[in-house]
Amino acid sequence: MAERPGVGPGPAGSAAVEYRGRFAPSPSGELHFGSLVAAVGSFLDARAAGGRWRVRIEDLDPPRERPGAADAILRTLEILHLHWDGEIVRQSTRGDAYEQALARLEAAGRLRPCRCSRSALAALAENRNRPAGEELFHPGHCLSDAGDPAPGSALRLRVRPGPVDFVDRVQGPGRLDVAATGGDFVLRRRDGLYAYQLAVVIDDAWQEITHVVRGADLLTSTPRQRLLQEALGLPTPTYLHLPLAVDDRGRKLSKSADAPAAARGAPGAVLANVLEFLRQPPPPELAGAGAAEVLGWAVAHWRPEAFAGVLAQPVTARKDTAESRNGNP
Ligand SMILES: [Zn+2]
Repeated sequence: MAERPGVGPGPAGSAAVEYRGRFAPSPSGELHFGSLVAAVGSFLDARAAGGRWRVRIEDLDPPRERPGAADAILRTLEILHLHWDGEIVRQSTRGDAYEQALARLEAAGRLRPCRCSRSALAALAENRNRPAGEELFHPGHCLSDAGDPAPGSALRLRVRPGPVDFVDRVQGPGRLDVAATGGDFVLRRRDGLYAYQLAVVIDDAWQEITHVVRGADLLTSTPRQRLLQEALGLPTPTYLHLPLAVDDRGRKLSKSADAPAAARGAPGAVLANVLEFLRQPPPPELAGAGAAEVLGWAVAHWRPEAFAGVLAQPVTARKDTAESRNGNP
């Protein structure tokens, strides 16, 4: 097996490093194919290493949550035999920890109160071609009433200049100049809600997560999270980014378009579809097998190298789970 950079603190032969991984869905709907890929990929990577696998519900954005979605996600994981370790952590209970981190950053002079409106930022030349859903570039100075940290200000991390290096275990080294391409990024929004970047960094450190395995749509979040870890003196886990599920025109599948069928069908066939997407299809003998059997095979044969260099992949070719349920290859 290829050497995994940054996994172990000691030389070869030292005590095995404990592996603690996690899957962190947001409860905005039932699991869609992309989040199933993240669940299965993070589970297999943890279990293949003999490690632990936690589940964390990222319920930071009540207006976007759907009632019952968190329970539905957990039920799906159970049906697929993706059994987690320990208690479920819900980010909605973690506000005190996020406030403490903000206070530390404030004391270190690393927070920028910001009242820039979304529309003013969106009008900047740097943001004209920004893909939907990606955080807007913020310039070195606020566009509006700076120096007025009134209620209603967002809090941003003052980003240090220069490139940020990071390593993906399979995709290799990466580098991004966050200051030049994104600028100071949001930690607490104008409406008072905590931003994903803050919560994920605080909780990964608090849960002592050693290995982050997630979709490649979060690849540009990794250098931001490294900057925040640096500012707070927190350890950096290792990262592995799974291919992003896209449509045949290369666009990320929307949850609404993708969710309905993703986790339906026989559990073994649902898992086989995900494994096929991850370029490690189960052998034909396992057609029609149950979830436990398919997962057992997948843990024993986990090969993240199989998707090296693949950051996005269409899912249009995946088999219909209803057909697979009947044992068709
Ligand atoms: Zn601003």
